[in-house]
Amino acid sequence: MKIAIAGAGAMGSRFGIMLHKAGNDVILIDTWTDHVNAIKKFGLKANFNGEDIVEKIPIFFPEEVQDYKDSIDVVILFTKAMQLESILKSIKPILKKDTKVLCLLNGLGHEDTIEKYIDKKNILLGNTIWTASIIGPGEVKLFGDGELDLQNVHPAGKEVALEIVKILKDAGLNGNYRENVKYSIWRKACLNGAINGICTILDTNIMSFGATKVSSQIITTIINEFAAVAKVENIILDVEEIKKLIISTYDPNKIGSHYPSMHQDLIQNKRLTEIDYINGAVFRKGKKYNIPTPYCQLITELVHAKEEILGAK
Ligand code: NAD
Repeated sequence: MKIAIAGAGAMGSRFGIMLHKAGNDVILIDTWTDHVNAIKKFGLKANFNGEDIVEKIPIFFPEEVQDYKDSIDVVILFTKAMQLESILKSIKPILKKDTKVLCLLNGLGHEDTIEKYIDKKNILLGNTIWTASIIGPGEVKLFGDGELDLQNVHPAGKEVALEIVKILKDAGLNGNYRENVKYSIWRKACLNGAINGICTILDTNIMSFGATKVSSQIITTIINEFAAVAKVENIILDVEEIKKLIISTYDPNKIGSHYPSMHQDLIQNKRLTEIDYINGAVFRKGKKYNIPTPYCQLITELVHAKEEILGAK
C-alpha cells in the first residue's frame, strides 16, 4: 500500500517514521517551509526512544504532490483540528476513487468536515494515545509506547480497515480495530476536555490541578456535560470509569508532572488551540440538542480569551 501522511508535524512524523522503518511506501505532505526543506535536505531526524536516527522519507508541499495523482492507497491525516479543512482541500489531487482516508486527530466532529470532501465509504476514524513532539524543523522527539483504535465509517470499509490495522500493527503502532470507535473518540475527548483547558487557563501541570479542593467537582461537572451530549448521539460514556481514569493521571509517576499539550501549544509556544473541537464541540452540540453545558462554554471562552491575550497564531 502506498501511504501519504498529510500533516507531517509531531504525530505525522512518528507515524511516517514507524511505517517507513517497517518497509512501507510512505510520503509526507506538509506546509511548514523550514520543516519540509530540512527533511528534503537531511532526512527526517528523530530522537527515537533515546536513539538518534534519520529516516529518508520523501516529503512534499501540497502543491508538489500532483505527481502522485491516482497512486495513493491510504492517507493518514495528522494536522491540528483547525487545519483539517485546508488539508482536505489540498490532498484532493492525490485521491483515487477508493483511496482510504484515516483521521486520527484529537477532538469531536471531524467526520462532518471529512464527509464534505471524501465519500463515506472511504473514511476511517480513530484516535491514538501515541505521543510525539517537535524539536525543530526536520527533527522530532518520539518517546514511549502507545496504541490506536480505528473503524470504518461505512460498513463497506471494514475489510480495508482490517488491512490497515495489520499494517499499523506490523509497524509497531499497535493498531486495534474497534466496533465502536466513536466511544474511544468521545472518551479521549472527555479526558482532554476535563484537564487540558483548565490546566492551560490555570497555567499549571496535571498533578497540581488534581491536588486542588475544587478539582473533583470541576471534572465531575465536565464529564457529566460530555456524557449528556454524547448520549444524544447514542454514545453512553461510563462516567465513573472516566473519572477514575482522569484521577489516575494526577499521579506524578504517570503523567501528573506533565503540562497537557494544549498548555504546551498556547502558553509555551503561543499557538492556537484545538479547544473548539473539545469543550467547544460539546458546547455547540449541547446548544443544538438543548442541553446546558456551562462549564464547557466557559472553558472554551476563557481559552479563546487567553489565545487573544497572548497573540496566539
Ligand atoms: P503538529 O502541529 O505538530 O503537526 C501538524 C502539522 O500539520 C504541522 O507540521 C503543519 O505544518 C501541518 N499542516 C497544517 N496545515 C496543513 C495543510 N493545509 N497541509 C499540509 N500540512 C499542514 O500537531 P501534532 O502534535 O502532530 O498533532 C496532530 C493531531 O494529533 C492533533 O489533532 C493532536 O491533538 C493529535 N495528537 C497529538 C499528540 C502529540 O503528542 N503531539 C498525541 C495524540 C494526538
